Amino acid sequence: TQITKNDLTHIVEADRAHLWHHLLQHKSLESTDPRIIVEGKGMRVWDQHGKEHLDGVSGGVWTVNVGYGRERIANAVRDQLVKMNYFAQSAGSIPGSIFAEKLISKMPGMSRVYYVNSGSEANEKVFKLVRQISHKLHDGKKYKILYRDRDYHGSTLATMSAGGQNERNAQYGPFAPGFVKVPHCLEYRGQFGDVTDYGVRAANAIEEVILREGPDTVGALCLEPVTAGGGVITPPEGYWERVQEICAKYDILLHIDEVVCGVGRTGKWFGYQQYGVKPDFVTMAKGVASGYAAIACMVTTERVFDMFKAAPDDPMDYFRDISTFGGCTAGPAAAIENMAIIEEEGLLENTTVMGERVLENLNALAEKHAVIGQVRGKGLFAGAELVADRATKEPADEKLVQRVVADCMQQGVIIGATNRSLTGFNNTLCLSPALIATADDIDAITA
Ligand code: PLP
Repeated sequence: TQITKNDLTHIVEADRAHLWHHLLQHKSLESTDPRIIVEGKGMRVWDQHGKEHLDGVSGGVWTVNVGYGRERIANAVRDQLVKMNYFAQSAGSIPGSIFAEKLISKMPGMSRVYYVNSGSEANEKVFKLVRQISHKLHDGKKYKILYRDRDYHGSTLATMSAGGQNERNAQYGPFAPGFVKVPHCLEYRGQFGDVTDYGVRAANAIEEVILREGPDTVGALCLEPVTAGGGVITPPEGYWERVQEICAKYDILLHIDEVVCGVGRTGKWFGYQQYGVKPDFVTMAKGVASGYAAIACMVTTERVFDMFKAAPDDPMDYFRDISTFGGCTAGPAAAIENMAIIEEEGLLENTTVMGERVLENLNALAEKHAVIGQVRGKGLFAGAELVADRATKEPADEKLVQRVVADCMQQGVIIGATNRSLTGFNNTLCLSPALIATADDIDAITA
């Protein structure tokens, strides 16, 4: 949609005068206009100048899984809002029940859905539950939560306390006690050298932390199935099997953060299902309604749920928690249609096939450009780590990564990049196109 020049001037002025953009050094807007995305359809978005962009990152942060302009979702949300927009979630709602049933049907072994607003919040709910379980069953002693180097779980102070990306945390401490870091599992930057059982060793490194801390003090382990913003880190073979064994051995609850991988991104409904994992908690957000409404979910098992109704006469026994907008019906109404689209259009299958094409194309690029150190990915979720020198794996200059992203933008393709970590690695270009991507789209994004 071409907007008038007057409208445009006004919108840009209002942006400059009053908006504080996420993740932006605003000084940059003194020399350029803010970018305003005006319209989207399928895989494409248009900015305020009418320029078309092919979106290789699903709304910037791997969110718009079913693509833009889905009238079916908008109509369902509209109908639901006119009928009943909100009531506190201590009562139920029609879309709330229907989506919970549909979601659980995709998650064998899981059974209860708790609605919240954001991925950070969903993760905090798990952290609270783990602490409460510790009070209920372990005299408050099994309260520690293990998180992994390079993983990210949110922007709130508790989730930052479980934040493995030092570059994001550097200036916001001190953080909450009771969160303990375990090593990352990226073989390319790993500590165990060229071995055949890297995955098992990386998981054993978690066990070492558990033994150091004392197994009786560790309540949960929180992991991304594939680390997203920390550099698109796919787990090495054997990793998850060993992680599962370790959790069982020490009675540690396994919390899988599916905020990025969830709802189709890797080619299965959930990333953990790629690796045969049996979690106790699963959190999800971005792809749940593809950004058509704000919804996030904390999902757990009947075993965990039962712990919170065992002593009804005790006024402290239940999960004493609320999230006001968890009662908004727009979220589950959008999520029902989002899931139906993925099923009806065969988008999980498409993701698997197109994901392989992304990796093939990136590997072909790596053969031509020595600056690509390693290509990683699962489904429509891929990363290419850039290096200054392939032999030494010296990280590429961060400015080069920014330049590649800017050049692609100039050519009408939006791609992403992870931040360089303060410990000196991880300049990774990221691709996470919508699950509807065609072969032509993939070829254009990776050209
Ligand atoms: N967990 C992961 C793996 C994420 O990538 C993110 C956001 O990027 C979050 C949690 C936080 O989600 P939100 O921004 O909705 O709070």
